[in-house]
Amino acid sequence: MSNDCIFCQIVSGDIPSRTVYEDDDIVAFLDANPLAPGHTLVIPKDHYETLGDLPDGEAEGVFGVLHALTPVVEDAVDADASNVAFNNGEAAGQEVPHVHGHVIPRFEDDGGKPIHAVAGPRPDLSDDELDDIADDIAAGAE
Ligand code: AMP
Ligand code: ZN
Repeated sequence: MSNDCIFCQIVSGDIPSRTVYEDDDIVAFLDANPLAPGHTLVIPKDHYETLGDLPDGEAEGVFGVLHALTPVVEDAVDADASNVAFNNGEAAGQEVPHVHGHVIPRFEDDGGKPIHAVAGPRPDLSDDELDDIADDIAAGAE
C-alpha cells in the first residue's frame, strides 16, 4: 500500500467508494467523476503504477475482471458499447499512479470519439521504420 495513493485508500476503506465488484486481489468501483453513467474503474488491490509494473498473476486478474464486468456495466446502464482503456503513465494522461482500467459506457450519438482520438497527430512512418518497430516489439515479446 502507498499511503498517499487515493486508490490504496479506497482498497483499505479509508476513502468511500461505490464498489461494484471485489475479490481477494481486485476491486472495481464507480468513477467519482464519470465520463458516462456506469463509468467504472478496475484496479489491483496491491499498488502498482503502470501495466508494465504489474506481475503476470495480477495482470490476469485485472484483465479477467475487465472481461467479465464490461458487459455487466453496459447492461446496467443500457449502453450500446463501451471503451475499455488504460491511461498508462503520466504522458498518456494517467493522474492516479495506481494502475486502473476504465470501462466507459458509450451510447449511439453520445458525441464522444473513438480511442484513436486520444493520441496526437498521426506520425508519417516509412515502411522501413514500421519494419524496424515491428522487429523490436517482436524481439521484446519473445
Ligand atoms: P486517470 O486519469 O486514468 O488516472 O483516471 C483517474 C480517474 O480516477 C479519474 O477518472 C477520476 O475521476 C477518478 N477518481 C479520482 N478519485 C476518485 C475517487 N476517490 N473515487 C473514484 N474515482 C476517482
Ligand atoms: Zn495505490
